[in-house]
Amino acid sequence: MSDLSTQLLRQKLYIDGEWCDADSGSTLDVTDPASGKVIGTIANAGAIETTRAIEAAHAAFRSFGYTTSEDRAAMMRKLHALIVERREPLAQLLTLEQGKPLAEARGEIDMSAKYILWFAEEARRTYGDIIPSPWRGRQILVTHDPVGVVAAITPWNFPSSMLARKIGPALAAGCTLVIKPATQTPYSGLAWAQLCEDAGFPNGSVNILTGSASAIGGVLTSHPLVRKITFTGSTDVGKLLMTQAAATVKKVSMELGGNAPFIVFDDANLDRAVEGAIASKYRNSGQTCVCTNRFYVQSGIHDQFVAKFVEATRALRVGSGFEDGVAQGPLIDSKAVETVEAMLADAVAKGGEIALGGKRHALGGTFFQPTIVTGATPDMPFASDEIFGPVAPIFRFDTEAEVIEQANATEYGLACYFYTADLGRTFRVSRRLEYGIIGVNEGLVTTEVAPFGGLKQSGVGREGSKYGIAEYLETKYLSIGGLNG
Ligand code: ADP
Repeated sequence: MSDLSTQLLRQKLYIDGEWCDADSGSTLDVTDPASGKVIGTIANAGAIETTRAIEAAHAAFRSFGYTTSEDRAAMMRKLHALIVERREPLAQLLTLEQGKPLAEARGEIDMSAKYILWFAEEARRTYGDIIPSPWRGRQILVTHDPVGVVAAITPWNFPSSMLARKIGPALAAGCTLVIKPATQTPYSGLAWAQLCEDAGFPNGSVNILTGSASAIGGVLTSHPLVRKITFTGSTDVGKLLMTQAAATVKKVSMELGGNAPFIVFDDANLDRAVEGAIASKYRNSGQTCVCTNRFYVQSGIHDQFVAKFVEATRALRVGSGFEDGVAQGPLIDSKAVETVEAMLADAVAKGGEIALGGKRHALGGTFFQPTIVTGATPDMPFASDEIFGPVAPIFRFDTEAEVIEQANATEYGLACYFYTADLGRTFRVSRRLEYGIIGVNEGLVTTEVAPFGGLKQSGVGREGSKYGIAEYLETKYLSIGGLNG
């Protein structure tokens, strides 16, 4: 870890431009998932500190909400420049607390920078409308104003970029924020406070809390001054937050779980499909909501695909994210390992065959072998539950109609992927797949310029793109009369 990473590792709350402890003085430990060692502490805040942060954000909104889009865009360009400048220490901090390979951590910091730059540009394009009036002597105007105080809650798998997707559009729109990063990976979240302060955002515009998720979440979802909840995490917690937010009718954006199918048709380019399979399955050790959960491979190329996929997966090196050439780090905690083990035991009991891996890695701790299971069937847990680990179950299928039905047989609808060389099938299958994000002959599809979000129980709203900023704006209609004529 460089000196700058150590400087960026802030262990306090950030409220109204001040670094402070929890009122009780209580702290929680944060561990490195690769070694299991404690790397620092965080303040264990609750309801009182949360209320204070909301009041600070509200006070800041009174002036920040009226800044010009040009001023906000300038601060955001500065923020972008600071992320680019501090890329390496931010990436190191991320690998330290999250475990992902340093190359992936750098990629995540680059993604954060891109989201901020994109929204710096979008800040100046929140155009309204003038609608032809049905009445003489009147003008009808539509404007977009910032929603107000936004509460943002984020998970541990992308502790930097999941916040970029929320901080970017919120600040661009003129909103202020109260943020709660995940307890497992708080430092990449807290680093945003320093970055925003250095970029010139005023006190109170960005507040960051750590501590009891339920106490902080309880106040964020019920306080009348909070106008919007934006959440990325599990479907269960998302539903809870939506329920809690209903009492004060807050706007909500929810990026929840996924159960991505990856379909390989007989006419697919096999090498391309294997490359996409590796990227979409094993990135972040399988711990992303757009990671493939179910592979469906058509009978004609099934065995060939499996052979090539096993060979490519065998080449993935497992180890500490700080080691050169490592493609897969540890899982986030021992509970994640136990979930994966239980799913595999169940699959094997139901006739699945382990084609590769299947066990904890010799490195110990929470390292797990990249795993492939063939002969997967709809009664196995992979079919319905998120794996969130490096396990690739392969289902065999015969017809297009059959695979579409199976691919859609889930409560989730975030990302899906399919490989084909047939243009007609590309459009036909895309139309029928009930997913918000569709990769055709591509296994990595996330970009700041396109809308990211899910259908069904995968969420509400979109992040990134021109659609992403609309989530942080209220639409107002002005009917101006007495204009004669
Ligand atoms: P994961 O399974 O990825 O850990 P969670 O949905 O449990 O996903 O966590 C995502 C974020 O939601 C984290 O910041 C976590 O602390 C927070 N969280 C968990 N439970 C609650 C809750 N009851 N209220 C508010 N936030 C919560």
